[in-house]
Amino acid sequence: MKVPFVDLRAQYLSLRPEMDAAIQAVIDETAFVRGKYVKAFEEEYAKAYGVKHCISCANGTDAIYITLKMLGMGPGDEVITVANSWISTSETISQTGAKPVFVDIEPDYYDINTELIEQKITKRTRAILPVHLFGLPAEMDKITHICRRHGLPLVEDCAQAHFAEYKGRKVGTFGVAGTFSFYPGKNLGAYGDAGCIITDDDELARKVRMYANHGSLKKHQHEMEGVNSRMDGLQAAILSVKLPHIHDWNRRRHENAIRYNEALAGIDGVVTPKLRPGADHIFHVYCIRADRREALAARLKERGVDTAVHYPTALPFLKAYGYLGHKPDDFPVAWQYQREILSLPMFPELTSEQIAHVAESIRSFFDGR
Ligand SMILES: *Cc1c(COP(=O)(O)O)cnc(C)c1O
Repeated sequence: MKVPFVDLRAQYLSLRPEMDAAIQAVIDETAFVRGKYVKAFEEEYAKAYGVKHCISCANGTDAIYITLKMLGMGPGDEVITVANSWISTSETISQTGAKPVFVDIEPDYYDINTELIEQKITKRTRAILPVHLFGLPAEMDKITHICRRHGLPLVEDCAQAHFAEYKGRKVGTFGVAGTFSFYPGKNLGAYGDAGCIITDDDELARKVRMYANHGSLKKHQHEMEGVNSRMDGLQAAILSVKLPHIHDWNRRRHENAIRYNEALAGIDGVVTPKLRPGADHIFHVYCIRADRREALAARLKERGVDTAVHYPTALPFLKAYGYLGHKPDDFPVAWQYQREILSLPMFPELTSEQIAHVAESIRSFFDGR
């Protein structure tokens, strides 16, 4: 049996007539960059989130960078973020000229460990940037409390957490802004790069929109220099077709995760993901921890199962951050887990048979069969 890590084609086939018509319409109307389809998607996304503004941009990395930049981050500033994430989270802090200050992850949930945030706050701290990694909301009660107490803006990296909720509230709406990626493999994915920022702050929305389009809101009126970070009409039209299905897809991912958890229960050598009380995990990634990870991944490969690691090197230990001089002891949990974590196939269309095959392959590996 083949079990791919993700199957984007299955989703396309389920939407094909509608999707093909939407794509054709953009081409017929040559609404290629920004334009009416982009405006329509921005309105739909803002409405779905119950926020005043959704500003589209070219990708999820730019969404973070543009937000931090327009919040005024720059040289001499520090932004607190989490030790395990995709590099966009920290790279964008550096792009503004600010310094990424990492915090270790929670042993149980893999998000930022809120117990360790305050000891990293200095006179230079200008913002906190948590990530809802794998689709599990970070501990938002604690984070919003810390931000309020220290007067720090909160920006949420929601690239892996479209419509995930914490205590009944959607992540991305807790702070001044939430940033999203619509990279094809994300829970809500385009057919190329795309991203957006959501906010209720009128002034931030105005600046972000301006900066993303060469510093202008009106043609040839450049109030500042900016960047070229725009969403394509094709991507917007594709996202508009997909948006009504996101809750169903997230629910199916969650059901698949519960099936995995049950099928993998009791295997000595495997730790399955925990569900945070009050948080709704949308399982962008289904991540286990396993003894002898490399051998297990090789066995799964032999049995037709693709896996991945998110991420094999935690951010502080990447060569890119060598200049910060971090040691394993600075982030002991991230250091230990980077050798144990293994992401199993996860997508809404995954079948019970596929899950059973993956689980049985893992069980037989640890049983020495
Ligand atoms: C995917 C991702 C991003 C960046 O999104 P792109 O659209 O690929 O630029 C940022 N943060 C996290 C946590 C991500 O997973």
